[in-house]
Amino acid sequence: MRKFSSSPYGRVFLALSAFCVTMAGLVLGKLYLGGESGLSLPWFAPPKPTHSLVTYRTEYKCGDVAVNTVEVPEAGLQAYLSAVSPEWGSPVSSTVGHQFTRVDPDYCPDHARYRLICLSKGYVAVYRGKRPDPEFLIKEYKDLPESALHPRDREVLREGLLIEGEPDEVDRVVARHLEGIKE
Ligand SMILES: [Zn+2]
Repeated sequence: MRKFSSSPYGRVFLALSAFCVTMAGLVLGKLYLGGESGLSLPWFAPPKPTHSLVTYRTEYKCGDVAVNTVEVPEAGLQAYLSAVSPEWGSPVSSTVGHQFTRVDPDYCPDHARYRLICLSKGYVAVYRGKRPDPEFLIKEYKDLPESALHPRDREVLREGLLIEGEPDEVDRVVARHLEGIKE
């Protein structure tokens, strides 16, 4: 009499049966014993994230927004959040992390620190910030037409002259440049 397990089909059947029994055992073990009572199956539970994203969003009066994001270890997250300066208020938490928002009554760093002197519609003009954005035109100088400029100045202002300085000083620096152009 031929032994059942000696046939190739029998061996495959036995192997499959053993596999199914093992898997069923693992699943039942997981279901009935729970995740914390010894059975640890890495493919059943995704690993917990070890870091959380904390975002700081600043909204300036010019409409610009600055966003900074930091990664904080999950273990120290609560201590980190409670140590954030009160000016940021309470964070809004979501699945992607925790976000603090504050409204700054001043201009953003670019609009506070930069002025652009350039030519606009045939005249010298000064803009707040780095770009000739009509919304941030400070002044158009009707007494400084392009035609009256020294060729050297005309060349420079056609390209645009960017001035940077402390927010409370940069306009004085611009005024000095304009004086130089007039002479
Ligand atoms: Zn701005």
